[in-house]
Amino acid sequence: MILDILNYKNPILRKKSEKIKEITPEIRRLALDMVETMIKNKGLGLAAPQVNQLKQIIAVSLIKNRSSDERVVLEPKILINPRIVEKSREAEIEEEGCLCAPGVFLKIKRASAVEISALDINGREVKIKAEGLPARILQHEIDHLNGILFFDKIYFWQKLKYFLNFRKQKFLR
Ligand code: ZN
Repeated sequence: MILDILNYKNPILRKKSEKIKEITPEIRRLALDMVETMIKNKGLGLAAPQVNQLKQIIAVSLIKNRSSDERVVLEPKILINPRIVEKSREAEIEEEGCLCAPGVFLKIKRASAVEISALDINGREVKIKAEGLPARILQHEIDHLNGILFFDKIYFWQKLKYFLNFRKQKFLR
């Protein structure tokens, strides 16, 4: 089932999500619906609060390089209670979007590599090492579980630019 995605102004997105204690059929259903919703909206990641559920579940599309033909495939993954266990000191600044703010792309600084620990849909512990774009996606989605949006991470001058653009649009309307 395709779920509705909240707009970035919704206060739900500022709340912290609860840890999953038991992977019930409802949790499984929600996780699968999240994957479907993410794919339908051409997103690379989706966190449960974005679909109005304050639960520690994220769906991510991790990029996998097929060694045989070098083709990049997207592999959807569900991660429950994910946490960052290690973060590289090196960071990179790249453009980022969010399904809660369609059409908005901002340059965000993030650690270039992370190690994540989480549970999979069957409750088994998984460890993921990621760098580059997959590392960025994981950090963005885990931020959602803590009520953090990508806007919070932009530089002052960027904020000012968006604020001024917003004022201008309002004025013209
Ligand atoms: Zn997002």
